[in-house]
Amino acid sequence: MAGLEDLYREIILDHYRSPRNRGELVVPPAHKTEGFNPLCGDEVSVYLDIDEATQTVRDIKISGQGCSISQASTSMMSDAVKGQSVAEARRLIRAFKALMSIHESKLEGEGDGADLAADLDGVRLGDLEALQGVVKFPVRIKCATLAWNTLQQGLDEINT
Ligand code: ZN
Repeated sequence: MAGLEDLYREIILDHYRSPRNRGELVVPPAHKTEGFNPLCGDEVSVYLDIDEATQTVRDIKISGQGCSISQASTSMMSDAVKGQSVAEARRLIRAFKALMSIHESKLEGEGDGADLAADLDGVRLGDLEALQGVVKFPVRIKCATLAWNTLQQGLDEINT
């Protein structure tokens, strides 16, 4: 399994070194949401431009700073949801959080998280699964989910 772990580490490093969708959008019309992970000091700002007519994530930009896990996760999140429908973005949020929750319960030795598996049903997370491969401690899961929780908060605030 060393090979797979190396591949995962490569994916994370690539997003950390060359983060996707860095920058800001003009607010308004875009919507800005800030997230903070006090356990690690990670900060993220998510700028969302939602096309209300088609309910699509027309554009997304990311700023902020933090550890490699949080930065890579934020970059991956922006890549995954840009151009997607709001419904698909919400599905990805649920699936990613389920993936990390299952991972967390395994790290803590609390069963296999089978009850969460339904949220993952039929969702392809691709590179995002690499985060599960490098997060070795439950406390770091907060680094990985910060971007997704901030995206969810943004979508809720826009009320889409
Ligand atoms: Zn962190």
